[in-house]
Formats: sequence, C-alpha cells, structure tokens
Amino acid sequence: MVTEFHPEALTDFSNGSNSRAMEGALDLIEGRFGTEYPLFIEGREVTSNDRIDSLNPSDPEQVVGRVSAATPELADLAVKSASRAFDGWASMSFDARAAVMLRAANIMRRRRFELDAVEVLEAGKSWIEADADVAEAIDFCDFYAREAMRYGDRQPLTFLPGEASELTYLPLGVVVVIPPWNFPLAITAGMTVGALVTGNTVVLKPASSTPVTAWYLLDILREAGVPDGVLQYLPGSGGLVGDTLVAHPLTRMIAFTGSREVGLHINETAARTADGQKWIKRVIAEMGGKDFIIVDEETDLDEAAQGIVTSAYGFQGQKCSACSRAIIVDAVYDQVIDGIVERVKALRQGPMKDPDNNLGPVITESAMNGILKYIETGKGEGRLLHGGARLDRPGYFVEPTVIADVKPGAVIEQEEIFGPVLACIKARDFDHAVEIANDTVYGLTGAVYSRNRGRLEKGRRDLFVGNLYFNRKCTGALVGVHPFGGFNMSGTDSKAGGRDYLGLFLQAKSVSEKL
Ligand code: NAP
Ligand code: MG
Repeated sequence: MVTEFHPEALTDFSNGSNSRAMEGALDLIEGRFGTEYPLFIEGREVTSNDRIDSLNPSDPEQVVGRVSAATPELADLAVKSASRAFDGWASMSFDARAAVMLRAANIMRRRRFELDAVEVLEAGKSWIEADADVAEAIDFCDFYAREAMRYGDRQPLTFLPGEASELTYLPLGVVVVIPPWNFPLAITAGMTVGALVTGNTVVLKPASSTPVTAWYLLDILREAGVPDGVLQYLPGSGGLVGDTLVAHPLTRMIAFTGSREVGLHINETAARTADGQKWIKRVIAEMGGKDFIIVDEETDLDEAAQGIVTSAYGFQGQKCSACSRAIIVDAVYDQVIDGIVERVKALRQGPMKDPDNNLGPVITESAMNGILKYIETGKGEGRLLHGGARLDRPGYFVEPTVIADVKPGAVIEQEEIFGPVLACIKARDFDHAVEIANDTVYGLTGAVYSRNRGRLEKGRRDLFVGNLYFNRKCTGALVGVHPFGGFNMSGTDSKAGGRDYLGLFLQAKSVSEKL
C-alpha cells in the first residue's frame, strides 16, 4: 500500500537554513567542476576519446563536467546491452519495479539541494526554477510508481459465462530515451522512469548541454536498485549517434522530447523497417510550441500582465510552454502593454548563482545567436518596446525583449524562438483573438484572462491546444494535476504525468480459458 500521490512542495529559499544549504550545495558542485564522467553501458563505466565539455552558461569559462561522448559503435553496443537485460527486468513484478522508483524519489529528496545546484550551474536556471524541476522529477518517480501498480493490477473485463478471461500489460523492449536540456532532470527522469517502471530497458542519450545533470539521475537510479544493463547512459551528439539508436533493429520504441525538426526526423527514421526488425517501432515525440495568452477587456489587467511576464520570461523563455504571444483585445491593448513593460523593467538579470537575479542566460552561444537573429527580424515586424540585445558581459545573456504591434502571420508570431522574446498582437475582439491563437502549426499551451463566462466557454471549446489555462499563467504544469502534451506539430500528446502515459510503454495481452 502507498499513500495517495501529492505533488512535492517547493523549497522556501526565504528560509535561512534552506538558503544556507543551497549556498553549501553550490560550493560542493563548484568543487566538482572539471570532473570527468564516463558512459555507462552494461553496468560498466566506459571512457571514450571524444569529450563533451558541459559549460556554465552564466560563465562559460567554467566547465561543469567533461563527459565522454558516444560513437555509433558504442551506441550499437548500448542497444544490444539493453536488449540482453530485457527479459530479466521485464519478468519482475510491477510492484517490485515501482518500489525502486519510490526509493529513487526519496534519494532525490535527500539530495535536493545538490540537484538544484547542478541545474543552476549547468542549465542556467534560477534557484526557484531549478528547485521546481527537481520537484517535478520527484513527482514523476512517485506518480509513475503508483501508476505502474495500477497497470500491474487485475484489469476489469466483461464476464462471459463459461470462460475465465484476463488482460495483462507487458513491456515492449528497448526504449531509446532522448530528452532536451531545458528540464534536464524532470523530463529526463520522466521519460526514463516511465520506460523503466513498466519493465522496459533503456538507452538514455541525454542532451549535450546538460549531460552532468543526467549523470546524477543515473547515479540515483542505480542506488535505488536499477540493475546493471537495464539503464545505459550514453551522452553524445544527437546528430552523430541519434540515427544509430533510432534505426537499430533491436530498438522497440523511442521516447523523445525536443524540437519539431528533430522529432519529425526521428519519426521518419523510426518508420523505416530495418533488416531483422520484428515490430513496428513506437514513437513518442513531444515537440515545440508557439504558446499564447489572450487578454480580453473583462479582466484584472495587472494580473494578466503579471501572468504574461512570468510565462514569457521564466527560465528566459526556454520552456516549451512559454508564452511567446500576448494576444490582447484592442480595448485594453495599450494598458496591458504598459503593464508588461513596467514589469519587465523590474527584472534583474545576471548569473544564476546569485538568488537576487531572476533572469539568467540562455543555454548556449548558438542558441543566443539564433535568438538575436529572430529579434532582428522582429524589429522589422513590430515596435521594439524593451530589450533587443545581449548583455555586455560574459555569459549568454539576452535581454528580455518585448515587441509590440506584431501582425498575425509574422515570422516572430509563427516560429518558436525559445528565448526571452515576446510578441504582442492586437486583436479586434475576443473571437479574433481565438482565431489568431489557433493560427500556427503548433498547439501546446495557452491561457485566457477573462471574467466573461461565455468567452471562457468558447475558449474551452475552440482553442486547440493540449494544455489550456484560465486566469493564470500558461507554464508550470504539475504532474498528476495537468497531464502535459500538445496537438498538431507540438507532438504526439502523450500527456506526461497523466493516467494514459504508462500505457504508451506497454502492450496488452488477453488470455481466455474455456471452463
Ligand atoms: P533538440 O535540439 O531537438 O534536441 C533534443 C534532443 O534530441 C537532444 O538530446 C539532442 O541531442 C537530440 N538530437 C539532436 N539531433 C538528433 C538526431 N538526429 N537524432 C536523434 N536525436 C537527436 O531540442 P532542444 O534544443 O534540446 O530542446 C528545445 C526544444 O524542445 C524546443 O523546441 C521545446 O519546445 C521542446 N520541448 C518540448 C517539450 C514538450 O513537452 N512538448 C518539453 C520541453 C522541450 P544533442 O543535444 O546532442 O543535440
Ligand atoms: Mg551547459
């Protein structure tokens, strides 16, 4: 028996003992800078000749870790190793595997500040954003453990006189897990734990910007009791080893979260049948977004402006759920824009080690250059109200940027920028706002600020996104509360953190005996 699932509470850093613990953890992780991390295949540490230097985006002179990078040969070895370990792990009960994940959650609780600190230094998250990511990772372990127990239970069937029937869930095989860097613990843990707790074995290829955080996950899952061979840690360039992993005849499923471009490429590669392959590969691909917040005239305009700023600039806009379009009706457009700019001016940007900074760097130099290019395009598509440049200091700091009077269909209104850039769009009225909101290839998150019941109900019906919020920000989905995943080019809508998720890692077998 386990207790009902509850989301993990966030750490209160205004409490002196917590902030001192966090300072201590940051010192600890800084003391580990430059550490070499091997690959982990079939229970053995493997060092390769190639290295990925994981840098601190707040101060790229600092090397958080030097991580061995896989080759296509090592990728092949990792898939074969996972395949060999499958029968043993698959034969364990759901409850036994769930117990491992409950232990993993407890280890994460014990190492909370250490994990927070790794993310601050490797991903450039603020203390609060890092802590929320670790809390979400704990939630995934706790929630999927309980879910696995449910999938392992006796399943309800219709009784037919004269027959005894049952339905059981079986794991699939080797799952290749490919996460992004922006929730380096939570998304990595969510997909890995989802695959493992259902009895699959895993090759985890972490994002190249955050491989050290993924190493901590490996360390925790091993301590929790994941046997050798069941989980391989395979850092390496996605462009170099991705196709070997995805196209491998022994790969049964790919669980991917990242950009649309890579997700579509994986989906196409996985659809080709390799020599010796005995199944149709399953693909989960959770991809990008062009998320919006609609503001109509019947609402608290301060709350709306605050919701937009939090959703657009939290973690520098590098969330798939980030608000990149504020769609505001004509009647209150100028007022809301003033409220946005006033709040953006109050943001403090700088290295994320310092908890007084609430805005940090973007992840890499190439990400920064890509964002600055979009800003240049945006300057020609609207009126620059704030930001627009990088900071004149080390680190990949792009100013929080607000561009107003952007027209529907403009490049910065259609393409995912994945940085601290907000486009403000004027709508004639609420119906027009809904039309603008739906007019992209994506469909991930959105929010509406309105007190008008009729409009909220129209939004509920017509806004085509996987995660819709009313009178609150459009980021911060909680496991169990807001199952997460998007429509159209935002992905396969796997609804991570929901009751349907683990079913994606399973196949059902029906057995009937005539009595
Ligand atoms: P990305 O560039 O697509 O990379 C994601 C992962 O794919 C990384 O591990 C990457 O490895 C790997 N990869 C790259 N090329 C590959 C290939 N040819 N074959 C196999 N794997 C390959 O995305 P990102 O920059 O890390 O993350 C940002 C994107 O993720 C945004 O579009 C964001 O919206 C999306 N996202 C979506 C969700 C969601 O739930 N819908 C959640 C978070 C993020 P390397 O790091 O080595 O390149
Ligand atoms: Mg880095």
